[in-house]
Amino acid sequence: MPRDIERWFAEERSRAQARERACTEKRFFATEAEARAHATSDRAQYGERLVPYRCERCDGWHLTRAPQDPAPRGVRL
Ligand SMILES: [Zn+2]
Repeated sequence: MPRDIERWFAEERSRAQARERACTEKRFFATEAEARAHATSDRAQYGERLVPYRCERCDGWHLTRAPQDPAPRGVRL
């Protein structure tokens, strides 16, 4: 079996494990509204930008750290 295929499988396994860890270790929210409410209060309290995302594993919502402020988009008039 070619080495890159083996590596791909190994990476895929570790990605799956990372997803599972994220799911079991992160706070669980039943709804997006609930997740957003927590993200808002965390931002006020800790200054962290968190964004809710739907989890395929538990069918609930978790918060993940938002990427740094995205570059401004759109045209300034
Ligand atoms: Zn989950």
